[in-house]
Amino acid sequence: MDYINEAFKENWIAPLGPNVNGFEQDICEYSGIDHCAALSSGTSAIHLALIMLGVNRGDTVLTQSFTFAASAFPITYVGAKPIFIDSEKETWNMDPNALEDCLKQINESTNQHLPKAIIPVHLYGMPAKMDEIIEIANKYEIPVIEDAAEGLGASYKGKKLGTFGDIGIYSFNGNKIITTSGGGALVSNNEDYVNQARFLATQARDNAPHYEHTQIGYNYRMSNISAGIGRGQMQVLDEHVKRRREIWQTYYDEFKDVFEFQNPSDSNQRNNKSTNQLYSNRWLTTILTPSYQKREEIRLALEKENIEARPLWKPMHMQPIFKESPYYGDGLSERLFEKGLCLPSGSNMTEEQQARVIGVIKND
Ligand SMILES: *Cc1c(COP(=O)(O)O)cnc(C)c1O
Repeated sequence: MDYINEAFKENWIAPLGPNVNGFEQDICEYSGIDHCAALSSGTSAIHLALIMLGVNRGDTVLTQSFTFAASAFPITYVGAKPIFIDSEKETWNMDPNALEDCLKQINESTNQHLPKAIIPVHLYGMPAKMDEIIEIANKYEIPVIEDAAEGLGASYKGKKLGTFGDIGIYSFNGNKIITTSGGGALVSNNEDYVNQARFLATQARDNAPHYEHTQIGYNYRMSNISAGIGRGQMQVLDEHVKRRREIWQTYYDEFKDVFEFQNPSDSNQRNNKSTNQLYSNRWLTTILTPSYQKREEIRLALEKENIEARPLWKPMHMQPIFKESPYYGDGLSERLFEKGLCLPSGSNMTEEQQARVIGVIKND
């Protein structure tokens, strides 16, 4: 509220201003990255990243099949086509083996060009296998856009997510680990990318006293009010991560013999150090039940008690809109979708509320 009141007092009600600059600085310091552009959404950040990497009509871009559609939609905004890569079973994120298979096949075929970008995703805050993915990307000289929309505050080998790719993106949508009500950011150690993102996000206005345009622009900048919310939220980010990891631990202790969990080795030693190999922010606690039927029984039992629990993301290669798109993998994401459930995991959930959720699941 202090940041927002300040914005009103100073009459900085615009898609620029001190909160925008301050929020960008906060993100840079927190994640350990050199440059950041605050934008209107994570989706717009991916869109701009693709434009800056020169992705065009007729190109292809690789992304994870097991993700939210916003990882893939922007690929189509630039006229390119997505190719979907399945997940591996430890992190449930992009399988480096399937990625390598795909690139090898494309490289060996005579009528296909290599993809223009790879978009790995850190789903539910769990780091993807970045060393392996970056190594393969480097081998084929393909840039990486790291979709860390769900991964702010998580880290891989002690380094914050969003800082591994050529470009990283965050989301501050209402449901994410912190929110600006709606918003996103594009981060990079390459200053040119971030300057170019700011330029494109403010209608590509060339340097002139009148409005002069040599490129197509977008209205994608974050407002000074939203950024004020973001600055306040940055102060509670680590608390949110701590709380979400506690919530995950409570579910895990209760159900570790009944359900499978996404990479439990990250936290089951109650090790809350961000130097863990894979340190998830545990944005959502996700479980894999024994069967579709069991998953639905649990979901409906919760729903009857007015408790919302949703299935895991439906893989992109199973979505009607992407049914023609190529897909590489062995179907793990299909099994995750069939049997998986996100449990209530909000940072403000009380112990009593979580006990109620656990009670309903146990009685089912
Ligand atoms: C939320 C989300 C996005 C998009 O972010 P918005 O700010 O909602 O546009 C992209 N990718 C993933 C994996 C997400 O969860």
